[in-house]
Amino acid sequence: MIPLSRPSIGRLEKSFVADAVQSGWVSGTGPYVDRFEAALSARTGRAHVVAVNSGTTALEIVLAALGIGPGDEVIVPSLTFAAPAAAVLNAGATPVLCDISARDWTIDADLAASLVSSRTRAIIAVNVMGNLANFDELRKLGVTVVEDAAESHGARKGDRQAGSFGQVSIFSFHANKAISTGEGGCVLTDDEELATRVRLLVNHGMTSARPYEHDVAGRNGRMTNVTAALGAAQMERWDELIGGRLLVRDRYSGLAAGRGLLDQPHPEDAVSSCWLATFVTDADRRAKVVDQGRRAGVDVRAIWPALSNLPLYRGFAPRKCEVADAVSRTAIWLPTWHGMSDRTMSNVIDAVLGRA
Ligand SMILES: *Cc1c(COP(=O)(O)O)cnc(C)c1O
Repeated sequence: MIPLSRPSIGRLEKSFVADAVQSGWVSGTGPYVDRFEAALSARTGRAHVVAVNSGTTALEIVLAALGIGPGDEVIVPSLTFAAPAAAVLNAGATPVLCDISARDWTIDADLAASLVSSRTRAIIAVNVMGNLANFDELRKLGVTVVEDAAESHGARKGDRQAGSFGQVSIFSFHANKAISTGEGGCVLTDDEELATRVRLLVNHGMTSARPYEHDVAGRNGRMTNVTAALGAAQMERWDELIGGRLLVRDRYSGLAAGRGLLDQPHPEDAVSSCWLATFVTDADRRAKVVDQGRRAGVDVRAIWPALSNLPLYRGFAPRKCEVADAVSRTAIWLPTWHGMSDRTMSNVIDAVLGRA
């Protein structure tokens, strides 16, 4: 099977991880955690970065740090991996699903504006499949903007990097993301008070200055030093890893040209990144493409269903989410990883489209 994704773990990662293990610093404190956080801060220009054990933990901790809970509403896009909506439910708050824009597949800022109520506490804007959300417009809504940058490492607008657009932002470093620690995530912000609160919540509600004096009911969301060693190595390879995925996207695009697979939209006012190479066909053809590819041993996948079509979330969509619905029925992901060979890519395209 040609897998959907695979992390790029090379000599540097192995040597950093071996060093972390050798040092005995294997839990949630240690020099690689500091180094990974500092590298993320330098890369994104954010004053504060807190490494945590997953992107989902990052979202949950952010909502907790913002004091979001029962009675509060958080606007989330209908087309996304479900973690942001699940985090809202797990905080005891109410997700309000919003349709996406056909232009870039991220949350539609005008529609989001119409969903703001007196209970709205935040909006989670997801940079869907490497496209930056429309932060200029979203910031005008007067609610806290949380940027979920899990799928957009390296995307940028001008010299501003993904991860720097929200009042608070998160990354995931799951194995299939462009920068990977296996499992992992982080919270990024310039707000010192919020960062302090995030650190407190991630660390059992206590600080090293006052151990066992728990000010709040915290959790343990820390990233281990071993995991951070992987991350620190990946940060040294940032340009290579981000660039490698863009090459794959462009190569696929060339191979698929004129054969009924269209590129996902990439708006021109920003530089999008590639998480998984995403293409669009029509709904009937998609089933065939996925089926054909999978039978030929290629892990090609239909993208997520719109959340508004899932029984768990359907009731949280005040309006129809037609664009999310249409995109979710017609888009696919092709196997994508850094360093994928031309031969593998053309095998993938031949498999999903048939040799003819
Ligand atoms: C991957 C992803 C997450 C979850 O990250 P984990 O590290 O797997 O918990 C959250 N949001 C989006 C948009 C994602 O793609």
